Amino acid sequence: MTQKFEIEMLPVLDTNYAIFIKCSITGKVAMVDAPDDDKIVAFLEARNWRPDLVLVTHRHWDHVDGLEKIKQRYDPIIVVPDSEKDQISPFTETVAPGAILPFGAGHFTVLSTPGHTSGHIAYFLQEQPALFAGDALFSIGCGRMFDGPPNAMWEGLKQLRHLPDETVLYCGHEYTIDNIKFALSLTPEHEALRQHLNWAEERRAQNQPTLPSTLGFEKANNPFLRIDDPVIAQAVGQENAPEHEIFAAVRKAKDQF
Ligand SMILES: [Zn+2]
Repeated sequence: MTQKFEIEMLPVLDTNYAIFIKCSITGKVAMVDAPDDDKIVAFLEARNWRPDLVLVTHRHWDHVDGLEKIKQRYDPIIVVPDSEKDQISPFTETVAPGAILPFGAGHFTVLSTPGHTSGHIAYFLQEQPALFAGDALFSIGCGRMFDGPPNAMWEGLKQLRHLPDETVLYCGHEYTIDNIKFALSLTPEHEALRQHLNWAEERRAQNQPTLPSTLGFEKANNPFLRIDDPVIAQAVGQENAPEHEIFAAVRKAKDQF
């Protein structure tokens, strides 16, 4: 069965991924975030693709510094989070969580995923379940909590668990191996993580991505989606603490790992 949307990841800068979504019915092309890397234009030219839409997840330089170049060359609609619009340029539209954006033969829903930055948003493609999580959620990890607060970040991640298990997860960075090593430091007996580490190390040794993942796999194995599992609370010595404090403790342990 041909898929309605063709989704491709391109490694750029040191650890980033630029992500491209092509609607096979209408030929429209969207991209998620715009790192400043000449590889992006080369990738688009090689396929004869022109982006019609750029979906920005948050204000950090490694996600927005390429916007000017993309705008000059292709003049797409550039959508940015409303609460970070003063720190992002150029853009053409702002969105808030809950918005629904038509794209080709489908729609993106805008989800609230604050904490890495306070206005961070993610985009969910409804018709072919795929989550473009930026730096909110990584495979077996989550973004560093620059802005917080912990309860908002945890609530945002918890909402992502409502997405169907088959949702394909695309993230802003290749951090999987470090994330698995940290997760195993919390739960050394977690056999699926051990196997996943072997797999991820083989992939990286061949210079292959460890993404995309799936939400089903992440719900079962990503400690940052399992904050309310007593095993995780115990691992950071926070058995009876409220969930946002457990989340903060796990996030801090990762920062110091
Ligand atoms: Zn970031």
